[in-house]
Amino acid sequence: MAKGSQLNKEHLEAVNALGKSISKRAGFHCEWCGGDEGLKLWEYQPDHEPAPENLALLCSGCRGLVDKRTPDPRELRPLRNALWSDIPAVAEGAAWVLVRCKEPWVREAIEESLIADAIKEKLLS
Ligand SMILES: [Zn+2]
Repeated sequence: MAKGSQLNKEHLEAVNALGKSISKRAGFHCEWCGGDEGLKLWEYQPDHEPAPENLALLCSGCRGLVDKRTPDPRELRPLRNALWSDIPAVAEGAAWVLVRCKEPWVREAIEESLIADAIKEKLLS
């Protein structure tokens, strides 16, 4: 237990150490929707080593969408442009949220995106 929490602490420190460069990369705006409310780092795959491609700067609204099972399609529209990012935490992370709503435009947008084919297949299966 103690070892686990120590690892967790190191992990968080490593994430926070990347904060400045990620915020700069993001231009101090949400990397999914472009908003600027309550920006915080978000980990795409928290079980992976902290790395810039695994982190995105997200606004509080977008972080809320991550936990929503059935997001409102209207809330998701602004995330569409994120699919064109070459950063997995931005493009793939947004795609996993988008794909929860079954609107046809979501499928189309993911198909057209630059996301790796293997991941697209998982997303759309
Ligand atoms: Zn956002």
